[in-house]
Amino acid sequence: MPEHHDFEAGTVWLVGAGPGDPELLTRKAERLIAAADVVFHDALVGPGVLDFASPDAELVYVGKRSGRHSRDQGSIDRLIVDAALAGKRVVRLKGGDPAVFGRATEELQACRDAAVPVRVCPGVTAASAAAADLGLSLTLRGTARKLTLVTAHARAGESLDLDWRALADPAATLAIYMGKAAAAEVAAGLLGAGLPGDTPVALVENASLPSSRNFATRLDLLPLAARTALGDGPALILIGEAARIPALSARPPSQPGCRPRAGSSRRAD
Ligand code: SAH
Repeated sequence: MPEHHDFEAGTVWLVGAGPGDPELLTRKAERLIAAADVVFHDALVGPGVLDFASPDAELVYVGKRSGRHSRDQGSIDRLIVDAALAGKRVVRLKGGDPAVFGRATEELQACRDAAVPVRVCPGVTAASAAAADLGLSLTLRGTARKLTLVTAHARAGESLDLDWRALADPAATLAIYMGKAAAAEVAAGLLGAGLPGDTPVALVENASLPSSRNFATRLDLLPLAARTALGDGPALILIGEAARIPALSARPPSQPGCRPRAGSSRRAD
């Protein structure tokens, strides 16, 4: 058993579990999960990731999927802090990267308020996994110089409060998290702010997993595609020139993992 210089009893690590495929965990994440006395995990943690935990570790599901909140953030914060104060090595495992739409700030602050040492282990975020599944780059030299990660999740009963003019940038790639339910609103907002209807859009569901599916469409057809082309797994919406997939319809159904893809030199950046 390796020594855990960086994981003392009574401390917390927020660990990125990556997009689902356990091979996309970092080696550090795998080591921290293996060393934990307790692992708090949620719905987006992929199958197989928890297998790295010690058989003696306590695995606690603290999931909250949109609309079906089983636990509120405050009670998750308290569970984490209480476990650390009880002298445990605590891993809080979060899908993707904890620092991307992961409520990391609340959990970090709760630990700091209780004087519990806490650190973050980054993970592969869904946008990276989606691009990998599609075999494309999120940026394009000269064409897509900006990558915007944006959440299209609105609080219950509220409409999206996004700066559509700023987002409707033809020289940017938008990676929209939690966007399935709001796809029609996103399309209307971007079209209204001047982004052309034929702007390429790619939808990727369950990126990096064997069940990964992707679908190529265009901005004006996004609402229809989001309603009909996706199942109920987590899905990412990529919008912009970088999301153009010329050969997609000619390709066999998507395979998980990294596939070589013949691309023009324009796409090689
Ligand atoms: N911290 C996570 C994001 C959490 S927000 C990360 O860095 O990836 C949850 C949203 O992430 C989902 O609604 C979906 O839009 C996206 N997402 C997470 N895992 C995904 C996956 N395997 N495939 C596609 N989208 C995913």
